[in-house]
Amino acid sequence: MARIDLNHIRHAYGPNPKSDKDYALKEVHHSWEDGGAYALLGPSGCGKTTLLNIISGLIHPSHGQLLFNGEDVTNLSTQERNIAQVFQFPVIYDTMTVYDNLAFPLRNRGVPEAEIDRKVRETLEMIDLASWAKKKARGLTADQKQKISLGRGLVRSDVNAILFDEPLTVIDPHMKWVLRSQLKQLHQRFGYTMVYVTHDQTEALTFAQKVVVMYDGEIVQIGTPEELFERPKHTFVGYFIGSPGMNVMPVKLSGGMAQIGSHQIQLPAPVMPAGAKTVELGIRPEYVRLGRSGMPVVIAKVEDIGRHKIVRTRLENQDIAVIVGEGGDIPAEPHIAFDPKGINIYADSWRVGGL
Ligand code: ADP
Ligand code: MG
Repeated sequence: MARIDLNHIRHAYGPNPKSDKDYALKEVHHSWEDGGAYALLGPSGCGKTTLLNIISGLIHPSHGQLLFNGEDVTNLSTQERNIAQVFQFPVIYDTMTVYDNLAFPLRNRGVPEAEIDRKVRETLEMIDLASWAKKKARGLTADQKQKISLGRGLVRSDVNAILFDEPLTVIDPHMKWVLRSQLKQLHQRFGYTMVYVTHDQTEALTFAQKVVVMYDGEIVQIGTPEELFERPKHTFVGYFIGSPGMNVMPVKLSGGMAQIGSHQIQLPAPVMPAGAKTVELGIRPEYVRLGRSGMPVVIAKVEDIGRHKIVRTRLENQDIAVIVGEGGDIPAEPHIAFDPKGINIYADSWRVGGL
């Protein structure tokens, strides 16, 4: 297993990139710790697969350098990097049996047959395909093929890292949960360096020790699930993590107060971002209180989702979502108030420190 350093990586697919928008990856400068379990989370098209393929060597970056345990591997082939990669779309050999599909990467590396047999059987058990070992891959369903693809990534234990690119997309929700917890156990048992790409926040938050959030070709935040929830560094993280996402609204700041429409709110500490084009206040629906005092609102919609309700309110021209816990009622003259510890201020979409 290896520590992986990404040094000022940029990548453009087209020739002659001129500005930032020509880059699929703008500037990735980050280290994956040896034995770390990372989830790479972001919307479709933000550059997750590009970054993974740069680590595995399928793509040579336009700029920057990649190190494994301090050694420069930027110009090494995929084989030489010794990385296992599980692709979003299964790459399997239709004419081979399930068993041989898993044995293939080991035979390629000259592993003795007895050890191959042990590893393949163990992996088949894990992905719940042991009884399918002798079947040809051709006749399998899409989710069985995806499991084979996953198995092929897991069958080798001598790799520098295992990279998973949305490996469970076509697998049914229960099996997804089972496989994800097996991956987690494997990580705990063998200490693999794992990078798990997903656009699904639940998957990312349950799998990883550290979640790396990508947006538009950049890493916008790396943190524990709690850090991403409590202190989103970028408004995008606020929107993307949590359900519903963070409320973000334009504000004017002066002397420790934030003005929202015609209302003034006391900030926990004075902040004054200099030279910002946009200044916004972000607060998660969990930190907005619905009651009989504060700022008067109109109730636009109430969504009952079991244990709590999502109440969509309007404060003048601003939509603000509120989460109301079990037993919480909606007053006849509704007002909202912000819990100071949930307030974040953003200048040009980036969080301002000091609160
Ligand atoms: P993700 O995996 O997060 O969905 P990708 O890394 O696949 O994102 O893509 C990032 C950006 O690069 C997208 O704008 C995508 O259209 C572009 N892109 C991806 N692959 C290619 C390619 N082979 N040629 C040109 N552009 C590409
Ligand atoms: Mg992708």
